[in-house]
Amino acid sequence: MKPTIIIGGGIVGLFTAYFLQKEGIKVHIIDQGDMQVNCSTGNAGMIVPSHIIPLAAPGMISKGISWMFSSKSPFYIHPRLDAKLLKWCYQFYKSANAEHVARSVPVLKNLSLLSKALYQEFRNEHPDSRIGLQEKGLMMIYQTEAIEKEEIEFAHLANAHGLQADVLTPEDIRTFEPNLEVKARGAVRFPGDAHLDPGKLYAFLISYLQEKGVKFLPNTEVLGFEKSGSSVKAIVTDKDNIEAEKIILCGGSWTGELANMLNFNLPMMGGKGYSFIQENKPEILQASILTEMKVAVSPYGNQIRFGGTMEIAGINQKINLNRVKGIFESINRYYPAFEAKFPEENKIWKGLRPCSPDGLPYIGFAPGYSNVLVNSGHSMMGISLAPASGKIISELHQQKDTTLELKGFEVGRYM
Ligand SMILES: Cc1cc2nc3c(=O)[nH]c(=O)nc-3n(C[C@H](O)[C@H](O)[C@H](O)COP(=O)(O)OP(=O)(O)OC[C@H]3O[C@@H](n4cnc5c(N)ncnc54)[C@H](O)[C@@H]3O)c2cc1C
Repeated sequence: MKPTIIIGGGIVGLFTAYFLQKEGIKVHIIDQGDMQVNCSTGNAGMIVPSHIIPLAAPGMISKGISWMFSSKSPFYIHPRLDAKLLKWCYQFYKSANAEHVARSVPVLKNLSLLSKALYQEFRNEHPDSRIGLQEKGLMMIYQTEAIEKEEIEFAHLANAHGLQADVLTPEDIRTFEPNLEVKARGAVRFPGDAHLDPGKLYAFLISYLQEKGVKFLPNTEVLGFEKSGSSVKAIVTDKDNIEAEKIILCGGSWTGELANMLNFNLPMMGGKGYSFIQENKPEILQASILTEMKVAVSPYGNQIRFGGTMEIAGINQKINLNRVKGIFESINRYYPAFEAKFPEENKIWKGLRPCSPDGLPYIGFAPGYSNVLVNSGHSMMGISLAPASGKIISELHQQKDTTLELKGFEVGRYM
C-alpha cells in the first residue's frame, strides 16, 4: 500500500499525521528543512477561541497604513513592486469588510472550540507529554481610550457568540497579576483561552509519531508532481520521486508555491514575527496580549516568552532588529518593573505565519484533484487551529462526513 504523504512538517502537518495514524493510515512526512526552520516551535503557543475575528477586518487597512511609517510597529508590509504581493493586498482589501467578518466569526469560533476540546483530549490521552497546557485564560491589556473602545466592543461581540469575556478594571488586573504593576487603563479577559509550550508540543509530536510508524523525510524538497488525469501519482523531490496514494499540502507560507506546481491558485504570504525568552522576574502569571503593540506574553513559570510583529516581506528569514526592539520596548511600557534584557541575536526566534488574504485557512480537497488535500493558511492561529483542521482532513481523507461544515475554508475560493 502506497503511503499518504504530507508535505510540510510544521504543527499543521504533524497534527494532520496524528489524526491519520490514529485511523491506521500509513503516513510519510516530507520537509525541505531539518524540521526546525518553520513557524511552529517558538510562537506564543496560545489557544484562542476568543480570536473569532479574521485578520482581514474593517479598520485593518487604516491601521496598517499608519503602522507602515514606524519601524517598530506591530504590522508592516515591505513595499515593493511584486505582482503576487499586490494581488494579495488587493484581495485582503476586498475581504476587510463587515460582511466578511460576520460570515467568518461563527466558522472560526467552531473550528477553535473544536481544537480546544481536542487539546483537552490530547492532554488526557498523553499525560506524559508535558506540553505545558495551561487553561488560565487570556488577558487583552490596553492603555489607550481608542483600543479600550475596540476591545470592549469585541468583548460584547464575543459574549453575543457565547464566549465569556470579562471587562477588568486596573484593580481587577491586580488579582490576576499580583507580583508586579501592570500599566493599563483596563483589560478584557477571556477565561476560556489557554496556552502551551509550542516547542515541547512539537518535539513530543515528532517522537510520538515516529513511535507510531510515521516516516519522516527531512531535508527533502518537493520540486514538482507526476500527474495522471485528476490525480497525483508521485512527488518529485530533490532526492527521489516518491509514489503516493494521497498527498496533503501543509507547506505553511510555501503552500502557494506547491499549489502553483499543481496549476491552481492559492494566495499566501509569509507574515514574519519574532519571539524571545526572558527570565520571568518579577513573575508574570497571566498569558496576555499587549494590545496597542500586539505583543503576546506567554508565561511558563520561571521563563516567559514575548512575541509579536507581522512583517509581510516575502519568504525572507532575515531578522529586522528594529521590529524586535518594538517588542522589547513594549515590555516595560506595560510592566515597568519587569527586569527585561534585550536578547542576543542568536536567541531571537523568527517564523513566517502562513497568511491567506481573507484571514481564513484553506481546508479541503485541491480544486481539480481527487487525491490532493490542502491544510494551510492558519495565519496567527496555527497552534490554536491545527488539531481541528487535522482531524477534519483525516475525515475527508476517509470520505467520512466532517465534524464541522467547511464553508469559508474552500481551497478553490481564489480560482
Ligand atoms: C511571533 C509569532 C507568534 C505566534 N503565536 C501564535 C499563538 O500564540 N497561537 C497560534 O495559534 N499561532 C501562533 N502563531 C502562528 C503559528 O505559529 C503558525 O500559524 C503555525 O506555526 C503555522 O504552521 P504550519 O505547519 O502551517 O507552517 P510551518 O510551521 O511554517 O511549517 C511548514 C513546513 O512546510 C515545509 N515546506 C514548505 N514547502 C516545502 C517544500 N516545497 N518541500 C518540502 N517541505 C516544504 C517547511 O519547511 C516547513 O517546515 C504565531 C506566529 C508567530 C510568528
